[in-house]
Amino acid sequence: MRASFALLLKLIRDRRQINPEHWLAVMDRFFAVADADDSLRMDTLNIHDLCAQLYHHGVYKVRDYEYRPPKIGRFVGWTTVPPLVRIILTVPRESVQVLQDHAEKVPTPLLQCDVGGKVSLNIFADIHVAFGRVIPMGERARPWVVFEEDPAGFHGTSSLLVSFIMPTRLLTDFEPAEVINVNFSVRSIPGPVTTILAPILGLKLSLFSAKLMDRSLVQVLPEVPAVSAHTTPAQVHATTPGQIGPSNAVSIDLDEECELVSALTSRIPIENQEARQLFAAGATPQIKQISACTMQINLGRFTQRLVYPFPIIGIPIIHTFQAEPLIPTLQVVVPASGPFKADGMQLNRYPVVGDPNRMTPWNVHRLHLNSLPIIDTKAKNLEQWLDNHIGSMMSMRERSVRKKNGDDVLVSLKDTIHALFVRSSGIQGGAMKRAFSLSDSTNNSDTIIFVSDLRYDLHSHTVVCDAYALPLTKPLVQELSAPLGKLAHSGNLVNFKQDLQSWKQMLPALVERCRYSWSHGPNCEYKSNDNIPLTVATESDPLCSCGRGKDVDGMLKNSDWSKFAPHVTRMALSPLFAVSYLETVIRHPNERRCFVCRKKGKMKTCTKCQKVRYCGPVCQKRDWRLHKEKCRP
Ligand SMILES: [Zn+2]
Ligand SMILES: [Zn+2]
Ligand SMILES: [Zn+2]
Repeated sequence: MRASFALLLKLIRDRRQINPEHWLAVMDRFFAVADADDSLRMDTLNIHDLCAQLYHHGVYKVRDYEYRPPKIGRFVGWTTVPPLVRIILTVPRESVQVLQDHAEKVPTPLLQCDVGGKVSLNIFADIHVAFGRVIPMGERARPWVVFEEDPAGFHGTSSLLVSFIMPTRLLTDFEPAEVINVNFSVRSIPGPVTTILAPILGLKLSLFSAKLMDRSLVQVLPEVPAVSAHTTPAQVHATTPGQIGPSNAVSIDLDEECELVSALTSRIPIENQEARQLFAAGATPQIKQISACTMQINLGRFTQRLVYPFPIIGIPIIHTFQAEPLIPTLQVVVPASGPFKADGMQLNRYPVVGDPNRMTPWNVHRLHLNSLPIIDTKAKNLEQWLDNHIGSMMSMRERSVRKKNGDDVLVSLKDTIHALFVRSSGIQGGAMKRAFSLSDSTNNSDTIIFVSDLRYDLHSHTVVCDAYALPLTKPLVQELSAPLGKLAHSGNLVNFKQDLQSWKQMLPALVERCRYSWSHGPNCEYKSNDNIPLTVATESDPLCSCGRGKDVDGMLKNSDWSKFAPHVTRMALSPLFAVSYLETVIRHPNERRCFVCRKKGKMKTCTKCQKVRYCGPVCQKRDWRLHKEKCRP
């Protein structure tokens, strides 16, 4: 986990092309925040794991790593002792048998290593494991090993090899090597892991332990950083002919709470000579939004697109400024678009893009419905979590919109999805309903949704409706008048008054995201109409006919539904969760945090600029070195 975090930091640094000096300030700030956070106190056991990963991936070098450890303990006779070593521990297969014995109840315990003696203890959670054997090679001055993997893996007979990296100092500077042990254990977390395994393994949940000096079980090898710490990040895009200048990465401004994206900034240095002359002669760059995430700049005959990582509101503020070495630079600042903001573009938030051979549903993930487990709606504790889970679709803003009966398309869409999950699971009492009619303000039924199953969407930690859409066109209503009448009079059809346009905009994506057993044919209407959805008008079909009547086993289980089966298209409807970095989801917006330690509670504001909040003088002092440059009244 800490390795992925180190790699994330590396990615950010390289993408943003942050210079080494600035990067050091970023890392200093990171450690200052981590230091000041009381809730991370237990993390001292992992700090060396983090530092080793940061060093290994060339992200940051703590001062300790300048130091050359003495040639004692396992390092007697080494030519040089590097700051980082790799430990390989041989764990006999019997020691991990207990995990297999309890795999039913403790399916995926987290494993880790720790190293310590009488006075020190450090945890290393980023371990690599494989069955096989390790053959020591080289000489004492320069040890290395050959690893032979057991092809039978779990079913073979070889020992388990566990490997991780750690700072050398911990093996030389704190206590004699003879008292240090290398342990392999299960991480203790509340729940079945601890209650089931502790009586067997002891409170430390130790699976196996070996002495550092035991050369038959513990290999210690020099480890070099995976990459040089001084790689120069590549320029993201160079200027191509006809471009005004290179489009660099977009930078994101966060609000002072570091929670909401307030604006996105792109900078284009005007590197093209002709463009620069135009600009110098007084030509004004024209800018407009051409899609949800794209702006376009025109300067004379030059056209250039700016692509943002998420939807924006196309009201740009252009600044120009002189950057060294005196290249005029266009700076475009645009606000991020909140969901369905009235001042945004009239966007379909869930479009399907691309041609029928390669269609991509946007803003929703793909699913293979048949492989997802079906939720047992008779399960006792269903109502304890399902309603809360679905309810968390709403952001704080949306909740207040709803309270004030405000008009917001997405809020009403989410409300309907909520109701659809609740009614089809039967969690709020009353009979379970599985057929839903979406109708306009005059109660004219426009689309029917049949929910065949509720399923767990395991990978996304949520749930999904395995459903079928039946858009009702006039001819279809005539053709199906008998079964439709029967359905309407059965009392099993729940009616929702809805903004039909937003449903019709969304339906193609809901179908496309779970399309698996059929393909779009040569006569696909999406192709001939060049429009997805085909239409958003009432009593007309937004979907192409390619998936109609395909993959409809779920419709055939219910005899009242089977007549509709040839006309429906399978779809996957998920809760639409708020985007947490654009909107506050659960936290109260008035709840302030300290800029340094992120603690909540009563805050004091910087008296000079009134812009930054601190919990007290300690945190304010800690931040002053960095803050004083920005502190303007
Ligand atoms: Zn099609
Ligand atoms: Zn604080
Ligand atoms: Zn200030």
